[in-house]
Amino acid sequence: MHVEGLLRAKGDAVVVIASRATVGELVDRLAQHRVGALVVSDDGRHVDGIVSERDVVAALAEHGTALLERTVADIMTTEVVTCVPSTTVDQLMSLMTERRMRHVPVVVDGNLTGIVSIGDVVKDRIRDLEVEAQTLHEYIAHGR
Ligand code: AMP
Repeated sequence: MHVEGLLRAKGDAVVVIASRATVGELVDRLAQHRVGALVVSDDGRHVDGIVSERDVVAALAEHGTALLERTVADIMTTEVVTCVPSTTVDQLMSLMTERRMRHVPVVVDGNLTGIVSIGDVVKDRIRDLEVEAQTLHEYIAHGR
């Protein structure tokens, strides 16, 4: 399976936020969309950064509630690891494990075209294992 297949299953919608938005707005948007990270993009196409709930928690520990008035640009990660539709799920799993991140934006020709999370990867893995188990059951039961 490739990233392309994951996007076909889950859709290509990406919730983005502008770098000048406040952390308070960021928290609202994370809660509203029930996601763990937002891509930071000022024009909606180019990836300027990524910001996850982990960044909010770390910055909250450092700055306290005054953090809510600061901007997304203050806490976002600017060196974003991205993938392409032809990236395999195995490559994605290695990337997420080695870099300790759970979200990877999909970029084609410099444009944001989707995002995949560790949840999408796990879901795909479980589906594969279910198909494999079903095939083995049928083989054992019917010899085919
Ligand atoms: P996450 O596990 O996705 O909640 O993110 C953990 C940390 O990695 C946070 O500091 C994020 O800003 C950062 N991060 C998340 N996704 C990416 C990514 N695709 N590229 C670079 N950093 C990321």
